Amino acid sequence: MTPAAFEYHAPRSVADAIRLLGELGPDAKLLAGGHSLLPMMKLRFATPTHLIDLGKVPGLRGIRQVGDAIHIGAMTTENDLLTSALLADKLPLLVEGAGWIADPQVRYKGTIGGDISHGDPGNDHPALMLALDASFVLAGAQGERVVKADGYFLGMYSTLLEPDEILSEIRIPIPPPGTGWSYQKLKRKTGDFATAATAVQLQMDGAKVASVRIALTNAASTALRANDAEQSLIGQSIDNASLAEAARLAMAICDPTADQRGDAEYKVAMCGEMTRRALQAAWARTQH
Ligand code: FAD
Repeated sequence: MTPAAFEYHAPRSVADAIRLLGELGPDAKLLAGGHSLLPMMKLRFATPTHLIDLGKVPGLRGIRQVGDAIHIGAMTTENDLLTSALLADKLPLLVEGAGWIADPQVRYKGTIGGDISHGDPGNDHPALMLALDASFVLAGAQGERVVKADGYFLGMYSTLLEPDEILSEIRIPIPPPGTGWSYQKLKRKTGDFATAATAVQLQMDGAKVASVRIALTNAASTALRANDAEQSLIGQSIDNASLAEAARLAMAICDPTADQRGDAEYKVAMCGEMTRRALQAAWARTQH
């Protein structure tokens, strides 16, 4: 199917894009890489009468270090993330996660900002952002506000982003040296969304867990932070018993929808297994 007719706008600044959003109202949609929006428009699940393309807005694409954090422009593509030496050095979890997204064609156009803004629980960046303790810069007519990833994802296709706001930048604290990380994703084939996936960032104090962040993809109507699983690990060593308990607690918060990837029981079990594997892999990376 072809999309319904729409008018195309190509603003040259964030301020112009925000002004257009305000003027055109709820019938307008921002266009980033188009790899979620255009399929929905072709299926007529989305019928915006105006598209505001962020592709020609300068300053929205790029990765830089600012003090103890990495700042990533919303229009930075998955391919940019994958090929960034700075990210490979400072935020390898994000590079590993981006490598699991879709296929090279989608990764060449799809953006981190679009992936986060879409609010799809099957998207990988929401859980990665929770595990990385990211913050988002939301720009609107009243100025900018910075919100935490924790609490940002409200439900299926629903986030804290207001209709007249643009996600302009993602800010991620650089984890201390020795931090372990892993994104474990089960998918049926290249280009598929996760049946279940878990992102982990882990710091050890000797043989004991000092701090850990665990987040789940496609386990419910939104990405989930596995708080109880995290708490169960603090002060513990990583062994079969602590991994099994963390996986059990992660599974307890899952509420997935059955689809062609499996029934709910299978998906919950896979979420537990991805959590166990991600913790084990993250722990192994703290050991050298
Ligand atoms: P668009 O499609 O352009 O926009 C998506 C939504 O976000 C729209 O509502 C748009 O208005 C809004 N938006 C975009 N940018 C902003 C912004 N800066 N501020 C505010 N709102 C904004 N994703 C995964 O995570 N994992 C996968 O495994 C995966 N597999 C895929 C497989 C296929 C075959 C396809 C087609 C897509 C897949 N995707 C997957 C989705 C892909 O990563 C999309 O690119 C991503 O979800 C959206 O990013 P985009 O830049 O294409 O945004």
